[in-house]
Amino acid sequence: MERHLNYIAGKWVPPETGDYYQSHNPACPPQVIGEFPRSGSADVDAAVASADTARANWDQTQAPQRAAILLRFSQLLVDSKNELARIVTLEQGKALCESMGEVTRAAAEAAFAAGEAVRLSGQTFPSERPGFSCYTVLRPVGVVAAITPWNFPVVSPVRKIAPALACGNTVVLKPASLTPRSAVYLVSLLEKAGLPPGVINLVTGSGECGERLISNIRVRGISFTGSTAVGVHIAEKVAARMAKIQLELGGKNPAIVYECDDLDGAAQEIVAAGFLCSGQRCTALSRVIVEESQAHQLRNHLVDHMAKIRVGNGLDPQTTMGPLVSRQQMDRVAGYVRKGLEGRSNLVVGGRQLNENPDSEGYFFAPTLFDQVSANSALAQEEIFGPVLPIIRVRSAEDAFEVANGTRYGLAAALFTGNRHLVDEFVQRVESGMVHVNHGTASQAHVPFGGVKDSGQGAFSIGPTVKDAFTNVKTIYMKW
Ligand code: NDP
Repeated sequence: MERHLNYIAGKWVPPETGDYYQSHNPACPPQVIGEFPRSGSADVDAAVASADTARANWDQTQAPQRAAILLRFSQLLVDSKNELARIVTLEQGKALCESMGEVTRAAAEAAFAAGEAVRLSGQTFPSERPGFSCYTVLRPVGVVAAITPWNFPVVSPVRKIAPALACGNTVVLKPASLTPRSAVYLVSLLEKAGLPPGVINLVTGSGECGERLISNIRVRGISFTGSTAVGVHIAEKVAARMAKIQLELGGKNPAIVYECDDLDGAAQEIVAAGFLCSGQRCTALSRVIVEESQAHQLRNHLVDHMAKIRVGNGLDPQTTMGPLVSRQQMDRVAGYVRKGLEGRSNLVVGGRQLNENPDSEGYFFAPTLFDQVSANSALAQEEIFGPVLPIIRVRSAEDAFEVANGTRYGLAAALFTGNRHLVDEFVQRVESGMVHVNHGTASQAHVPFGGVKDSGQGAFSIGPTVKDAFTNVKTIYMKW
């Protein structure tokens, strides 16, 4: 079994704690992926000190040079797509085709971020006083902590690291403890791409390690993706020292189906967006809100499309949906199904784990559909993060909007309709960072991504808004 190390000041180093943990394949839990440092305070502090020391030189590195390194990194991602995608499937579980898509997407986002390095422009202003020039420049935030989840072990770190580096920051990455292997691989690609020592640093370990990282006063920016609970905790914790934060949190993303003239097409999109990555996506469609008169027909189409999902080991080319990431996640999903059964919801299909002994045979869960779910129930309000889709029936468009906006979240929302007026109203009224009309919640590699309400805070990631997350504005008045 391979033992992996932290990456600090340009060197692969063992943890000061001397302690390691094993990560496992969720499709076959007895299979160990590797051993990784269970880092402690001294490791985290050393990583931050290294990033702090490297800051001045990296800031002085000319933007086209930073861009060139990031473009090399993007190309290395493309070149290593097969190997890295296999690692993603082994440690996260998702189907290999999804992992391939994830690596391709990460390469595209890194390439876009590279371009942002040379687009770090400020503004000029006419002066109210004679003999003055007034202008702004964008300056790096400083040391940035990137704390990432297990559902996208490649895209999530790249989405933070690449724009942060492009903007002249140095970074300490703390990946999810369930998926550290992809992070080790990514950092080795950044090293190959020619990043100077200290500009990227990696520490693996638990949430405690993340806690230590956000508490270090030399960390001036934090980009976090994960649960709303931890996101809120981070915001509270760093408020006192005014560190800059970008939080990408949970979702309970609605798909409204109303006066829809292609119910089969809508169902196909909803199933794809609901069950990709076994529903473990912050932007997964996780509530279907349908007008009563179309509900029965839509439900049949959903069942037809769900029947085409092939659950299995992600490395099997026939598989379209892999296991849940861990025993904990499987138990959590099963808990929500129990709540649905105890309430008045009607279980249509699924609702069970697929193996008697998941700890030896894998954390597979059947794609699950509930109908006639109450808009106030746990199934309809809480982020399940699994392959469970509740249908909520409504009697009017007004009810549909009210239900769609009736959760604490506001990440992504979709509307399937042939009614143009309804589209305009939806785009205006839905409380959501991202809005999709007549398609699922797929995003693109250069378009701003983020949420409102409890789904996020700070600048949107991806696209030109990344500059707001990873730079500070400086205003200059110059007297001639
Ligand atoms: P967490 O929010 O706990 O974890 C996300 C990242 O934060 C991980 O790297 C984690 O480390 C780290 N972390 C945990 N606690 C702290 C802390 N106090 N300070 C700093 N960093 C910390 O998500 P989980 O993995 O536990 O998933 C729980 C739920 O969160 C899911 O079921 C889902 O609902 C939601 N989630 C949402 C995601 C999204 O994309 N919006 C992504 C993942 C989860 P470690 O892994 O070591 O615990």
